Amino acid sequence: MLMRFTEEQLMIRDMVREFTEKEVAPRDKWMDENGFDRALYDRLCTTGLTGVHFPEEYGGAGCDAVTSTIVIHELSKGSASLALALDISWVASDMILHHGTQTQKDKYLPLAAEGKIFAFGLTEASAGSDAARIQTTAVKDADGWWVLNGGKSWITNSGVADYYILMAITDRSKGAKGISAFIVPKETEGLIIGKHEEKMGMRGSSTCELSFDAMRLPPDALLSSEGMGFKIAMQGLDGGRISVAAISCGLAEHAFELAKAYANERITFGKPIAKHQAIQFKFADMATDLTAMQMMTYNAAEVKASGKRHTLEAAEAKLFCSTRCTQICLECLQIHGGNGYSKEFDVERFVRDSKLLEIGEGTSEILRMVIGGTVLGK
Ligand SMILES: Cc1cc2nc3c(=O)[nH]c(=O)nc-3n(C[C@H](O)[C@H](O)[C@H](O)COP(=O)(O)OP(=O)(O)OC[C@H]3O[C@@H](n4cnc5c(N)ncnc54)[C@H](O)[C@@H]3O)c2cc1C
Repeated sequence: MLMRFTEEQLMIRDMVREFTEKEVAPRDKWMDENGFDRALYDRLCTTGLTGVHFPEEYGGAGCDAVTSTIVIHELSKGSASLALALDISWVASDMILHHGTQTQKDKYLPLAAEGKIFAFGLTEASAGSDAARIQTTAVKDADGWWVLNGGKSWITNSGVADYYILMAITDRSKGAKGISAFIVPKETEGLIIGKHEEKMGMRGSSTCELSFDAMRLPPDALLSSEGMGFKIAMQGLDGGRISVAAISCGLAEHAFELAKAYANERITFGKPIAKHQAIQFKFADMATDLTAMQMMTYNAAEVKASGKRHTLEAAEAKLFCSTRCTQICLECLQIHGGNGYSKEFDVERFVRDSKLLEIGEGTSEILRMVIGGTVLGK
């Protein structure tokens, strides 16, 4: 392995690995068929891993972004869906960590660290990539409370989340600078959990539509200040993209290991297919990609851990790793021959899971715009 992890990071890595092998991997197929596994998530919470990067004063372990990336990476070797649920919960709760008032931090961060589930709602039916064009409004009433109307689409963890961070327009005349962020507990009146999406993959994470019907929020539900919502969302996605890169690594490594075992067992023309050069070359290309994927992911995590801006590194890592992950999962399916096309073999599920990684938290096309704009000094 290329990365020089600390003793503490190695200890946490081994702990997540053991938990993943024993508890997570055996449940992934079940989650694909039945959806989010609350009991498994609750067991994850008991390990303390959900709070790994939160400061100790809020009940976390005080570790850095490299360590939280290790957690996501290792978990996704057992279930990309479960890792995605944790990734999004962290994307949303980290918005409070980085932008909340002291009162908001004191109230919500211990809950996030102990494993309460958070969701992040930016996308709407008519605004995904072009997120500044959201239509949900938040208007202040005579008592100073906020009244939200509108809706969100494709919200990971919706239906199972305890808290939502929602973006809404507070001043339409200001464009992206007129978007604000709000903290919304699940029991808030007017918060309606809508259609559950029947997804192609990542079926162990819950994804629903949300609608807001005159949903009233107290003044202190506003995160940071008015007009900061878009900036908060984009900064949150920078962190989330490192996690998506880590999920891509974990999922691709899992597919690789299964294909390796299969290639050593399956006999054609009198020898294991692993002995055919055409198959060996597939493994050579995949192993090379996996090394590059891990380096890019942990490089982005290191930049984040150092406190520097990591927009470019995170976008590059997500673009490269998610694209390669899909290709590796497809190649691993090919190595399984006809069996790869059967639901009896895990690799078909991995192909379905992998595609989301090229779409959520910024599509590959949008990431190219971010990277191109940055390197050209836009
Ligand atoms: C399973 C799942 C979970 C999700 N979870 C969340 C969540 O938790 N929270 C949340 O807020 N959102 C979430 N999303 C939404 C996700 O972020 C959006 O789907 C994504 O940003 C793309 O937006 P869109 O679907 O509206 O596609 P569109 O924006 O309509 O894009 C359609 C296609 O056009 C391309 N495109 C768009 N604009 C350009 C351009 N300028 N140049 C070149 N190509 C372009 C896109 O890359 C894409 O290929 C989730 C989506 C999925 C599928």
